[in-house]
Amino acid sequence: MSNPYQNALNQIKKVVQILNLDENTYRLLSAPKRILEVAIPVKMDDGSIKVFQGFRSQFNDSRGPYKGGIRFHPKVTRDEVKALSMWMTWKCAVLDLPLGGGKGGVIVDPKKLSRGEAEKLSHGYIQAIYKYLGPDQDVPAPDVYTNQEVMAWMLDEYERLTGRHAPGMITGKPLSLGGSRGREIATALGAYYVILEAMSRRRIVIQKTRVVIQGMGNAGANLALLLAKKGFKILALSDSKGGIFSPSGLDVKKVIRHKESTGSVINFEGAKNIKSDRVLEIPCDILVPAALENVITKKNARKIKTKFIFEVANGPTAPEAEPLLAKRKIEIIPDILVNAGGVTVSYFEQVQNAQNFSWEEKEIFQKLEKKMIEAYRAVLSLKEKYQTDMRTAALILAILRVIEAMKKRGME
Ligand code: NAD
Repeated sequence: MSNPYQNALNQIKKVVQILNLDENTYRLLSAPKRILEVAIPVKMDDGSIKVFQGFRSQFNDSRGPYKGGIRFHPKVTRDEVKALSMWMTWKCAVLDLPLGGGKGGVIVDPKKLSRGEAEKLSHGYIQAIYKYLGPDQDVPAPDVYTNQEVMAWMLDEYERLTGRHAPGMITGKPLSLGGSRGREIATALGAYYVILEAMSRRRIVIQKTRVVIQGMGNAGANLALLLAKKGFKILALSDSKGGIFSPSGLDVKKVIRHKESTGSVINFEGAKNIKSDRVLEIPCDILVPAALENVITKKNARKIKTKFIFEVANGPTAPEAEPLLAKRKIEIIPDILVNAGGVTVSYFEQVQNAQNFSWEEKEIFQKLEKKMIEAYRAVLSLKEKYQTDMRTAALILAILRVIEAMKKRGME
């Protein structure tokens, strides 16, 4: 599989060429400002001590404090964390949030940890890097295999070490510790607003629009529910165990209940079981990868029969697949725009923490809708101006905004 950091560098190289920027600017945009690599000792339940390797990449803070999740996964690498921190920089800039980009990760298989071991690991990670975190320095959030509970442990450790309350040092917290209403469905809702805007611009009839979604986790399942409620026809859904397909459309609510009781979407009454990787090849109008990176590749790109790909997962389309899709007029609406609802409500969480006040859900959703639509329109207008694709246009928007902030600070 290609190196994600190299992919991220190739993306900015392309934009630097389009915008006719110089080598110095490319160099300034291409490396994280700081990358921390730490060893986290944890006393395991059996009395042995394991030392886990952790990272935090602080990519660019010219627009504001670093912002980005912490991932617990056995396949975390230094380069992956660097790439993700660069993409967070662009994502926050596309949404015009006053934030920079960061990302953290620990090499660990969380499924092999007891709850107590996971808690010690979370405390240990913060002990190792807390001096570099804070509401006005670097603000982590949940990512793959970290959740509200992990955020609560991390907040607690940070506050213990610094001796003061600082709820704005982390987002995705439980409501009782200063979390935001609406955070659980924010990513799906953000993607939903972008899909509706894209469909209405093209005057596409929702009831005739067929959707396929890969991944039935937080983002995929909530998006499936929202789209089904609006009248889209959900043709196929999948999770790690397999997929289901019904030409007349699936009852999403019932599928979710079925998954809750059986552990998977497969064997849903009235639907046909299909292999996980075949889901992407079902003819449809909207394809939503909402599970893993690099699922649309050179190998399967020719078999994909859709009009639009809305990237809810981070990096689901391998760079080599993009020209093959473009040739067949399949439009990709990129991750740094489509899945930015999560970080946008995380930003709202920080604002509420700073105000020591909590907003109503309705207010949060209205503000999110406005932000997502503004970002979509800004990307679309650059797409037209530069006669390019939506991903490149989103990167142009982000890079111009970051460069502007860097210049104003005197960095040229
Ligand atoms: P999650 O862990 O809640 O769900 C992941 C889902 O993917 C699960 O249903 C799992 O069964 C499924 N899956 C795993 N392997 C699969 C396979 N081979 N085929 C089909 N499905 C498979 O994760 P999530 O929070 O929903 O995140 C999904 C994606 O969205 C990730 O790429 C994540 O980085 C991205 N994302 C999520 C958020 C957020 O706020 N949740 C924000 C931005 C981006």
